[in-house]
Amino acid sequence: MPELPEVETERGRLASRLQGRKLARVQIRDPRLTRPDDPTVVAAVLEGDRVAEVERRGKYLIVRLESERVLLVHLRMTGGFRYAPASHERAVLELDDGARIAYRDQRRFGTWQLLEREDAERHLDIRLGPEPLERGFTKAFLAGRLADRAAPVKAAILDQRTVAGLGNIYSDEALWHARIHPQRPAGTLSADEVAALREGIRKALRLGIRHQGADLGDGAYAGGRMQERFNVYGRGGEPCNRCGTPIEKIRVAGRGTWYCPTCQVNR
Ligand SMILES: [Zn+2]
Repeated sequence: MPELPEVETERGRLASRLQGRKLARVQIRDPRLTRPDDPTVVAAVLEGDRVAEVERRGKYLIVRLESERVLLVHLRMTGGFRYAPASHERAVLELDDGARIAYRDQRRFGTWQLLEREDAERHLDIRLGPEPLERGFTKAFLAGRLADRAAPVKAAILDQRTVAGLGNIYSDEALWHARIHPQRPAGTLSADEVAALREGIRKALRLGIRHQGADLGDGAYAGGRMQERFNVYGRGGEPCNRCGTPIEKIRVAGRGTWYCPTCQVNR
């Protein structure tokens, strides 16, 4: 499932092809993509519009159009854009420069929502906290979101209103960087631990972006190299890169969770 680094990688690739281009022809082949809106209506409104910017917020791609409409794309499990014919094509964009961009999605959980600008902003604002790599993601903000919460810290940071764009992979990596056990009750973290967690989140996400996200071998995010750099995620039984202790796997908030029992003691 793509998280902030994978979506940011998609954004960069999409922006270089889409920004400034007119959508000459739009086909939406899967009605689930635009549900409850009629895909033929969405395609007809998109056709002829020009793309101003492609941005990202949390795990959403934001395609800003010259009409001031916004196409909000959420890739969910396996959504992604392809620049050559692909399997599981759910939509196709043909551009005024002759380029063809396919949206493929094997599991079909991805969504396209065409909204007016204000509606798109509202949609994002009620679902997402600050961008973790931007200035608004302060120690005070994170401390406030964790305070008085009995939930495991991992569950707390998976909440998109706390850390926009974080998911199962990068939360495990962030907690390892911060030396915090994933099951610690969120409200018990000290100020120093909150500061370490904020740094850990930012470090894990920056590494993911630098390595163009993670390719987990399912064909969804081919080309990423972050999977070779994981410190804990998916590494059960392998030695910790810091202390050599075998990495352990547990379940937290229903999610497979990897951590180092020596570096991340549950105090
Ligand atoms: Zn360790």
